[in-house]
Amino acid sequence: MSIPAAFDYHTATSVDEAITLLQQYGDEAKVLAGGHSLLPTMKMRLAQPAHLVDIGRIHGLSHITEHTGMVAVGAMTTYSKIERSDLLHKHFALLPEGTALIGDQQVRNRGTIGGSIAHSDPAADMPGIVLALKGEILVHGPNQGRRVIKADDFFKDLFATALQPGEIVTEVRFAMPPARTGSAYTKLANKASHYAVVGCAAVVSLGGDGTCSSASVVITGAGVKPTRASAVEAALVGKKLDEATVAAAASHAADGLELVEDIHGSKAYRAQMATVMAKRAILKAAERAS
Ligand SMILES: Cc1cc2nc3c(=O)[nH]c(=O)nc-3n(C[C@H](O)[C@H](O)[C@H](O)COP(=O)(O)OP(=O)(O)OC[C@H]3O[C@@H](n4cnc5c(N)ncnc54)[C@H](O)[C@@H]3O)c2cc1C
Repeated sequence: MSIPAAFDYHTATSVDEAITLLQQYGDEAKVLAGGHSLLPTMKMRLAQPAHLVDIGRIHGLSHITEHTGMVAVGAMTTYSKIERSDLLHKHFALLPEGTALIGDQQVRNRGTIGGSIAHSDPAADMPGIVLALKGEILVHGPNQGRRVIKADDFFKDLFATALQPGEIVTEVRFAMPPARTGSAYTKLANKASHYAVVGCAAVVSLGGDGTCSSASVVITGAGVKPTRASAVEAALVGKKLDEATVAAAASHAADGLELVEDIHGSKAYRAQMATVMAKRAILKAAERAS
């Protein structure tokens, strides 16, 4: 089935208007951002929303802006724009680096950071990257409601987030990293779609003595949702990040993961690849930090 069920199309010109439309049509409505996850799902008739609320014409949702102590990225910012941002390359290398590995150029020209995290596909790259960077997600909802959700509290389960009905992601914020911080993203990609069979997003900071002062390591693709590899992080902090230390820490990459399996890989294969990807990402991040 490659033709979606019939739907009404609404163009919102402001966040408030989009939220009003979402409230008006309730369960029958869905936000349309880049459409690169929603439309394939509709074509397969896995989703049949009667109303689409397009947020692509709302001004002020596709910025990459530096503020005191943080960088804010609008929800409708495309992957292409993220990939080309000097500001993001300078402070959060894994964000443009990981984004450049998503799909193909057409996907990156349309897909958005807000759409990816709201969709929360377990094989997507952006959710794991946002989690590793400890991003904060600004959400607007009914009755002028606004709240900020920490990435650690945002990704709940397979395709499930902390978003409530009628809420829209409007911005993702990243705190400026301390000096001597490096980050990297590595993935074993599906050869056709480039979705992550397994990916690892790593951010490490080094102290004055060269040991690791903080580590944020997230595995994506291998489990039902992007998952913080807490055991890996704990094994890195306080240590010099030489190859043996990183390899020993990375061997815990699949600890606590609710592993998935499909035609692209068994649970055992994904667990092994999580270790491989984690080692590569952490070593690269450590090299960039020093
Ligand atoms: C051929 C192909 C290859 C791909 N390869 C990859 C890949 O390698 N890695 C990867 O990570 N992804 C991949 N994708 C998916 C792509 O990244 C999608 O663009 C992305 O997952 C969704 O972003 P979108 O802006 O297109 O959202 P949409 O498809 O428009 O929306 C997705 C969902 O999120 C909701 N939504 C969207 N925006 C918001 C918002 N601001 N607030 C609240 N809800 C919102 C929608 O209602 C919908 O339920 C691929 C897609 C295709 C078609």
